[in-house]
Amino acid sequence: MRKIKEYIEDFWFLIFPYVCEACGVALGKNEPPVCFNCLYEIPRTDYCVNEDNPITHLFTGRIKIERGTALFHFYKGSRFRKLLHALKYRQKPEIGILLGKELGAEILSSGNYNDIDYIIPVPLHPKRQKQRGYNQSEMIGKGISSVTGIPMLIDVLLRNVETITQTKMTREERWHNVSGKFIIKNGNKIQNKHVLLIDDVVTTGSTLEACGETLLNVQELKLSIAVLAEA
Ligand SMILES: [Zn+2]
Repeated sequence: MRKIKEYIEDFWFLIFPYVCEACGVALGKNEPPVCFNCLYEIPRTDYCVNEDNPITHLFTGRIKIERGTALFHFYKGSRFRKLLHALKYRQKPEIGILLGKELGAEILSSGNYNDIDYIIPVPLHPKRQKQRGYNQSEMIGKGISSVTGIPMLIDVLLRNVETITQTKMTREERWHNVSGKFIIKNGNKIQNKHVLLIDDVVTTGSTLEACGETLLNVQELKLSIAVLAEA
């Protein structure tokens, strides 16, 4: 016997069918939130296998990282931009998990990230997280973790000061906005460990640099960085 909840879900689906968040094509009820075409048409980098790449170069002379990678190139008007918007502003955490799984698969198959002990997402300020309902970087980390089996820690790196949105700031302004705004708790968990810091998009790298600088205060910590896209 079918439950009433399933009837209601089917009825709802008739009125509001699921569509791909990037192109609007109709999707089946149990399909992922992004269609196959879009998922494989967004231009991908080879950074997981190629360690000499723009992400590692971006942090040279700023913080010491072992490896750095991004899954996608981010162009204006691209399908990825729509996905990012849905993930951050339209209550679609499942997009973060899906794209995190894609990134996790690349990380795993490259063989370059086998020594990572923990995944750590860039934290949101608790107030912002409450408004959004979730931390998008944590959703990406969840996807990576489910594919690679690497555990995620969300109680170690925290944001202690609310920062204002950075989209219109210069690199220097961004650095002042985020520098010193992160703290470590339970630091003993990551002593002597290699952690993979996760974010959605890297532009100037200020937020990742501030997080990385904070993490590198932990004894014998090794740091790598993975993001969904580089702008
Ligand atoms: Zn699509």
